[in-house]
Amino acid sequence: MKKAVVLDTSAILSGTINYLPFDTEIYIPQSVIMEVKDADSRYRLETSMQTGRVKILNPPTQIVNEVNRVSMSLGEALNLTQTDIEVVALAVYLHRSGYSVIVFSDDYSVQNLCKRFGLKFTPVKTTGIREVRRYIYKCTACSYVSDRLPYDKKCPICGSKLKRKRVS
Ligand SMILES: [Zn+2]
Repeated sequence: MKKAVVLDTSAILSGTINYLPFDTEIYIPQSVIMEVKDADSRYRLETSMQTGRVKILNPPTQIVNEVNRVSMSLGEALNLTQTDIEVVALAVYLHRSGYSVIVFSDDYSVQNLCKRFGLKFTPVKTTGIREVRRYIYKCTACSYVSDRLPYDKKCPICGSKLKRKRVS
């Protein structure tokens, strides 16, 4: 099955693109680009778009409407921006097009919505020095690394076991 990830703005800002395996296609909706204001991140994103590493795809209106309706029924509508909705809608669209999809987002409401649509999701790797990290979780098979344990305790990219490592 073809593998794809959909990134939200926080995933772009934290540099997720750099550690994703090369056989994984990276998708973002147009609205995410508008939210990337930091000059370095924007430069990196533009370069990734030019090389085709990151693909821009806007989800069909019908699916956006469907995700909007579900977010309302879950009581999440107020917690979600239109960009959040489009991130999830894009993942739904790719999933229904036959992709194995993972959504990278730290947003609890986005994760909740993903759950409702049967989509896999994972928190974003944080690389900021502001955060004190005691452990990282490294995939035993691919290059995935995160400082948080994914919800199912498996590598969100390839499904292999994660190894906990102490970070000094
Ligand atoms: Zn892996």
